[in-house]
Amino acid sequence: MTVIEDELTRLANRRSFLLSLQRHVLLVNERKVNLGLLVIDVDSFAMINNAHGFAFGDRLLQHLAQQLRKVARSHDAVGRIGDNRFGLVLTGLMNGGHAELAVHKLQRLLDTPFEHGNAKVKISVSVGIALCPQHASQSDHLLRRAERSLATARATGQKYMFPTDGVDDALSDLWDIEIELDSANALGELAMHYQPKVSMHDLRPVGAEALMRWRSSTRGNVSPDVFIPVAEKTGQIKKLTAWAINTALRHASEWVHPWETLSVAVNVPAEMVVQYDLPDLIENALSLWGRPQVGLVLEITERSLIGDPKQSFRILSQIREMGVKISIDDFGTGYSCLAYFKNIPADELKIDKSFIASLIEDSASAEITSLIIDLAHRFNLTVVAEGVEDELTFDALRSRGCDVAQGFLFSKALSSTDFGQWLKQRGKRGQESGVRVP
Ligand code: C2E
Ligand code: CA
Ligand code: CA
Repeated sequence: MTVIEDELTRLANRRSFLLSLQRHVLLVNERKVNLGLLVIDVDSFAMINNAHGFAFGDRLLQHLAQQLRKVARSHDAVGRIGDNRFGLVLTGLMNGGHAELAVHKLQRLLDTPFEHGNAKVKISVSVGIALCPQHASQSDHLLRRAERSLATARATGQKYMFPTDGVDDALSDLWDIEIELDSANALGELAMHYQPKVSMHDLRPVGAEALMRWRSSTRGNVSPDVFIPVAEKTGQIKKLTAWAINTALRHASEWVHPWETLSVAVNVPAEMVVQYDLPDLIENALSLWGRPQVGLVLEITERSLIGDPKQSFRILSQIREMGVKISIDDFGTGYSCLAYFKNIPADELKIDKSFIASLIEDSASAEITSLIIDLAHRFNLTVVAEGVEDELTFDALRSRGCDVAQGFLFSKALSSTDFGQWLKQRGKRGQESGVRVP
C-alpha cells in the first residue's frame, strides 16, 4: 500500500494512517493478537505558535515526528492525524503496559528541550491510549476511545490515559515482567535459538541468527518483542547481550557440519554499540569460546549509527579488526541515510522482513528491495533477506541478486541441538546432487 505523506512531517497523513489502522485491526481480529492505539497531542501548541511564530511551530512538529519514528518499531504505523495531533499504532502488544512503555520512551526523548533559532521549549504531550480488542474491535471505535482517553487525560491533568471503563487487567503486568526477567536467566528460563541463513547462490547454510527465547514458568513463552524492550529500558539488556554472545559462540563451537566455516549472528541493541566496553566484551567472549570455524556477526540497527556516528564507527571498526562481521539489521525501516554508506563499517545488510513479506504483491516493496540490493553490492556488502516464507519470494529475491535468505521457508529458530540436527540433514541432502532444497 502506498503511504500518502503529510508534507510537513513526512509521516502518513490522516487518511493514510486511518487506512493502515483499519488494516492492522483486521489482522488483529484474524490472528487473535493485540494492538494499541496512541493519540498524541502537543500541549499548548497555540501558545507556542503565538510566542515563537509558525515557522518555529512547524519545526517543532517535524522534530516531534522524528521522535515518534524512534518510538515506532518496524511494523508499527505512525501518522499525523490533525494539526498538532499524531497517531501511533503499536502492533504485537501483550498488554497495556507495553503501550505505557512507548509513552515513557517518547517522554524520555522529549526530555531534551527543542531548540530552533533563538527559541527553546520543552515539548510536552498528552496521550490517549486504547487497546484492541480490549477496548474496541473496530478501527473507528478504537480511534474514538483513544481520543476520549486523551480528552480525559487533558481534563484531569494526566500525561496519558487508558479508557476508564473496561480497563485491561494486565495493565500492571509489565512491571511484573521487569521483575521476573531479572531472575529468568538464573532460573534457566532463557535460551538461545538459531535460525538458519542460507546462501541463495548454492543453497548452502552460511550460518544462523541467534534469537533469544524466554520460557517463563508463570506466563509461558514471552515474545522477545515484548521482553527485549523491557530489558533495554531497565538496562538489563547489557547482561543479557553478554550472555547471548557467549552462549551463541559456545553453541556454535559444538555444531558438527561438513562446511569450512559457519557464522553465528547475535543482535546487539543500539545503546550498546556506542559503549566503549563492547569491544572488551567481544574480546573476552572470543577468547573463551572463539573457534576458527566459527565466524561471529553482530546484528545492529541503523539507529546504532545515527546518534553518535563518529563514536559508533570507531567502536565498530575496532570490533571488525578482531575479525567480527557487522550486519545492519532491519534495513529500510529507519533513517537509511545514504551519506554514511561511504565509510560504513559493515559487511552485511539485512533487508527488513516487511519488504520481503509484500515483495510479490507490492511493486513498491519490490522496487525498494532491488534498490537496496544494488546499493549494498555497490559498497561490497552482502545482502540478506529475512522473513522469506515461500519459494516464490525466494526466487524473486534470487533473480534480483540477493545473496542470503533467512526465514520460515528453511526453518524457524531451533534449539542448538535441533539446529545441529538440521545442519546434519542439510549436509546429507547437499551431497545428493541436483536436489532443489528449501
Ligand atoms: P529481528 O532481529 O529482526 O529477528 C528476526 C525475527 O523475525 C525473529 O523474531 C524471527 O523469528 C522472525 N522471523 C524469521 N523468519 C521469519 C519469517 O519467515 N516470517 C516471519 N513473519 N518472521 C520471521 P523473534 O525471534 O520473535 O525476535 C523478534 C525481535 O526481538 C528480533 O527481531 C530482535 O530485534 C529481538 N531479539 C530477539 N533475540 C534477541 C537478542 O538475543 N538480543 C536482542 N538485543 N534482541 C533480540
Ligand atoms: Ca536481527
Ligand atoms: Ca531484522
